[in-house]
Amino acid sequence: MTSTGQSAPADTRLSAYVEAVRAMREGRYAVDIPLGAQDDVGRLGAELQQLAEHLSGHVTQVLRMQAISDTVNGGLTLIDVLDRIFDAFRTVIPYNRMGCALLSADGRTLRSCWARADFGDVRLGTGFTASMANSSLNQVIASGQPRILNDLDAHLRQHPDSHSTRLMLAEGIRSSLTCPLISQGKPVGFLFFSSTEPFTYQGVHQGLYLRIAAQLSAIIEKGRLYQELVEVNARLLATQDELQELATRDPLTGVFNRRGILDHLKAEYARARREGGPISLIIVDVDHFKKINDQYGHSTGDGVLWEIAQRLAGGVRQYNQLGRFGGEEFLIVMSNVECGQGPCIAERLCKLISAQPIEHEGLRLDVTISAGLVHATDPATVACEEALIRLADEALYEAKRAGRNRFSCRTAGGAALS
Ligand code: GH3
Ligand code: MG
Ligand code: MG
Repeated sequence: MTSTGQSAPADTRLSAYVEAVRAMREGRYAVDIPLGAQDDVGRLGAELQQLAEHLSGHVTQVLRMQAISDTVNGGLTLIDVLDRIFDAFRTVIPYNRMGCALLSADGRTLRSCWARADFGDVRLGTGFTASMANSSLNQVIASGQPRILNDLDAHLRQHPDSHSTRLMLAEGIRSSLTCPLISQGKPVGFLFFSSTEPFTYQGVHQGLYLRIAAQLSAIIEKGRLYQELVEVNARLLATQDELQELATRDPLTGVFNRRGILDHLKAEYARARREGGPISLIIVDVDHFKKINDQYGHSTGDGVLWEIAQRLAGGVRQYNQLGRFGGEEFLIVMSNVECGQGPCIAERLCKLISAQPIEHEGLRLDVTISAGLVHATDPATVACEEALIRLADEALYEAKRAGRNRFSCRTAGGAALS
């Protein structure tokens, strides 16, 4: 602050300067500096005043850059980091559009990974790739300095092959500031600030970017690595699901394999016990299947098994699960099926197989199945899921003994159903 009018004595002014220096040392830059006469003391006062203004401006900028860095650093994924940059940089660099492109691991290809604009139409958006061979961007990397192109029309005239410049111009962009991202001494990509006005960028913007470039590059690299981690993790989860699917599917028939249907039974039994709902099982066994193999060969036997599995699958509702329990045996787990419904379903399944011959490579084979049904109204009265299977097995053999192509029933308590 300056004081005009009558000049204070030199020693008074010097005391004020000492106070001002002390205040600045403590971080207070709005200091009172009486200038007074243009003597040596006055000139010192003028210098001090300029120093105070310079320091004040410098500190404001450092704090602003620090605030930007803190905001940006709060982002976890690459896109979040870049969105934060877009919102935070406005106070220091002008732009209508920002973009980010990252270099491939070998540094030969540049891929645009993000772009945002105040205006709608971003033509040079995500996924745009360009070779770094002969690109003028190599000079930006080599110099480590942001490059100003304040007249993109003129730039295109000089570099008519620059596809990216053409696209930028089509978006309405007229000037750009291209900033290299260099993390731990290695170029990782570029940040593009661009404006719809020509001659927007000056040395001061280059300087401001350089002040924060190292932190920014590190944060962007961190975001990229995090994103990679997320993507790798998603791929691993998908692979795990596929493996799980493969491990629980029967390759011949496409229905659950033994492990898959037993896992399902275990889960359903536990759920039924917990919730107190009913649970039913049907074990299906193909009648005289060995004869089919013996008479027509194993491959025909396989074809018959496939067709039986498809008919059974069509015969049980979606929430009743079907699995291949053994060679020519299938297991059906039914949740929330009332006592009276089980026999209807078992009968329907037997008819689905017997009603129509199975056609396979020109053959028409009359095939039948037998089924054993067990129903537990209260699963808590059954010791374990294996006990349910044993009861269904008993019922199945009863149906076999009774002449096949039929079903037999048990309740979990042991009395036969109708
Ligand atoms: P039953 O009416 O008493 O059940 O007589 P069955 O002939 O069906 O019973 P058995 O247990 O004697 O024979 C089952 C046959 O199923 C024996 C086995 O070779 C055949 N088998 C098991 N798995 C497969 C398979 O994946 N493909 C084929 N083609 N046959 C299989
Ligand atoms: Mg069998
Ligand atoms: Mg059999």
